[in-house]
Amino acid sequence: MAVEHLRTWKVGEIEVTRIVEVWKWEDDIWMALHEARPDIVATQPWLIPDHCTPEGRMFINFQAFVLKIGARRIMIDTCIGADRDREFPVFTHMRTTFLADLASLGIRPADIDTVLCTHLHFDHVGWNTHLVDGRWVPTFPNARYLLSRQEYDHWLMLRDTGGYHAINHLADSIDPVVEAGLVDFITPDHRICDEIRLLPTPGHTPHHVSVHLSSAGQEAVITGDMMHHPIQIALPEHPATFDMDKPKGAATRTGFVRRFRGTPTLIIGSHFADPGAGYIVPNGAGWRLQEPGKP
Ligand SMILES: [Zn+2]
Repeated sequence: MAVEHLRTWKVGEIEVTRIVEVWKWEDDIWMALHEARPDIVATQPWLIPDHCTPEGRMFINFQAFVLKIGARRIMIDTCIGADRDREFPVFTHMRTTFLADLASLGIRPADIDTVLCTHLHFDHVGWNTHLVDGRWVPTFPNARYLLSRQEYDHWLMLRDTGGYHAINHLADSIDPVVEAGLVDFITPDHRICDEIRLLPTPGHTPHHVSVHLSSAGQEAVITGDMMHHPIQIALPEHPATFDMDKPKGAATRTGFVRRFRGTPTLIIGSHFADPGAGYIVPNGAGWRLQEPGKP
């Protein structure tokens, strides 16, 4: 959304920079936790004021991440994109500073060598393409776009069967990169390089992936939509509203929190509002996100 929202984390030799397209969007908590009432936030007061309001509403960002390691320049997800016709007015015909933010990091679109989409929802694939003379063309012409084969096949099936409420983003954000020959179809345990590996985290979508970073003794995970909000670290077993398979999503989140709680693994949330990343630490009988520099 603007250069002032850029934030960079160092994970060993990897620099992870967040590019925000929608900043601190406020919505009902039930958009993250299925059928939850606002008073559930009162059980997790550490979320206020950064992630929730005292009235029990939540904040989320829409953002992507650019990774620098050595000469590599890797995009993890590509946000919503410009000029789109979308189901929700807020995301329709957006004009944001996404590419200018990238330029402020000294990165041109042509410098990006890899684009990884954690899954194929519209808010993770938008800047795969942009509009040039009325045509959708790849934004990152020198990149290999990594898409899970099974995830892609699932979305083709949904399009063929009318099985999803709004699917026109495939035509403007996915089809053009496939037709340009820029896609490598991968498995959900793919390794981008020695330091960057995918972590299968199914449930939100059938073959959703998170991204595990490991460099010089430091570790981090970029969540994708395995979770949308830090309250899901405290309540991982609660069904998530936007998970296509709610029991599987809850099992994935619960296993994720069990694996990384009490470890020095930085959890970077793809939809977390500021500060946006932290460690899973004890909180009474449960767990919470502890963001560096915060109480
Ligand atoms: Zn999302």
